[in-house]
Amino acid sequence: MIRLHLLSKRFGPAEVLGRIDLQIAAGETVALLGPSGIGKSTLLRIVAGLDSDFEGRVERPGRIAMVFQEPTLLPWRTALQNLRLVHPGLSRAAAQDMLARVGLTDKGRAYPGQLSLGQQRRLALARAFAGQPQALVLDEPFASLDPETAEAMLALTERLIAEARPATLLVTHARAEAERLASRIHVLDGQPAVLRR
Ligand code: ADP
Ligand code: MG
Repeated sequence: MIRLHLLSKRFGPAEVLGRIDLQIAAGETVALLGPSGIGKSTLLRIVAGLDSDFEGRVERPGRIAMVFQEPTLLPWRTALQNLRLVHPGLSRAAAQDMLARVGLTDKGRAYPGQLSLGQQRRLALARAFAGQPQALVLDEPFASLDPETAEAMLALTERLIAEARPATLLVTHARAEAERLASRIHVLDGQPAVLRR
């Protein structure tokens, strides 16, 4: 489970996040909406353990995965290598199976630059789920995709979450996506930003 207790974050004099409390149980998905620049990615990075410069307390399970706003794939490594370098214990067969689950069966030897944005997002999702995460944070995984690709990505994410049941924090600015995936929706708003229902 994920638990935030009085989490505050400032960049120099600017207080971005103000005393945020949030709990997400195992198997639960919470969505976070809010305008651009409000602090959503900042919050996710702290939850994922990528930023330790904050006040308050963050509890998270040992295995946590983050899918970034821009797919952060290694450009000179194939799709299979992108999975296996992050998860050294993952066998080639397991990595291939993970690719198949996200619809990239025949892309194992492709480099990220040879994949469409939608396929890169699928690969990033495969990489996140390959570690069997107990917690998952997703930063606008459906943004800047055409409606058809976004819908496919949404259905895929929904399926993977239902199978693995991590505690999930999803950032999006589309309420329809939030309503479909999450059992609870919060809005981040204000200066410093706080959570509203
Ligand atoms: P969102 O993801 O909601 O669009 P961000 O979390 O990326 O917003 O940014 C929140 C605020 O913090 C913005 O005003 C942004 O300019 C600022 N910010 C983000 N990262 C840094 C940083 N490394 N240094 C200083 N300010 C930052
Ligand atoms: Mg952001």
